[in-house]
Amino acid sequence: MAKVTLIPAEENTGIIFKRTDVKKNQFIKAEYKNVSSAQLCTTISNSSGVSVSTIEHLMAAIYITGIDNLIVEIDNNEVPIMDGSSSDFIEIIKTAGTEEQLKKRKFVKICKEVNLKDGTKSIEIKPNNFGLSIDFELSYENQIIGNQKNKVDFYKDQLKDIYSSRTFCLYKDIEQIKKAGLAKGGSLDNAIVVDNDKVLNPSGLRNKNEFVNHKILDLCGDMMLSGSRVLGNVSCKEGGHKMTIGLLKKIFEESSNFVLIDLENIELITKDLKKSKINLSATA
Ligand SMILES: [Zn+2]
Repeated sequence: MAKVTLIPAEENTGIIFKRTDVKKNQFIKAEYKNVSSAQLCTTISNSSGVSVSTIEHLMAAIYITGIDNLIVEIDNNEVPIMDGSSSDFIEIIKTAGTEEQLKKRKFVKICKEVNLKDGTKSIEIKPNNFGLSIDFELSYENQIIGNQKNKVDFYKDQLKDIYSSRTFCLYKDIEQIKKAGLAKGGSLDNAIVVDNDKVLNPSGLRNKNEFVNHKILDLCGDMMLSGSRVLGNVSCKEGGHKMTIGLLKKIFEESSNFVLIDLENIELITKDLKKSKINLSATA
């Protein structure tokens, strides 16, 4: 069990995890440079080796709710999986509320196409001056998951089907995931479990594209590790955490790939949030 506390932070703080169960070197900045593992989930570590894993669904919730500055206190090394989606994190942030800060928000604007390929897997990002879109295609031999494709514009589309989509695994892979020490207590309560030709969860799927929608959610959470918000159109085929982190590294390797800008003219807030009027300060 882990206890997570979200604490409002000053402008230009970014997203910082604080491990309250260790005495020294407690802070880990949520940045692609600090990713120490991207197998199965995203893990960040500081230079003293203090780490937090499975940060991606919380990072996606932070992205979607428009939070730029936050201290995430946690008394364990793994963010709770909750129901396998970002729903609970989004709900708690909406309940606590967020507050507008004075400094202009920084964006990473992509200036030219950057791409990565690895066998049949690929990811690319192209310029988009006004938002972030993610186009994802997955392809599984399993007939239930099969081939799914979806494209989401994070500032134009409703995101509920994205943030409520759960992580998934094949029944035969559960043992391997447990051996890696992740998804402790992994069960039908926190993942979609697929056996050959059926979904084992009694209530079935939450939406018809739940598998690919969860991959879009993961990608969004990992993009938040740019340290700012990225403006671009991402297309990914069969990728995952490793590929997204690889793309971020490649973008920042070459200064002509991007420019850091302030934006004030466009109201970059996701549609879901516009509906729930929020103006409290964030403590959850
Ligand atoms: Zn995930």
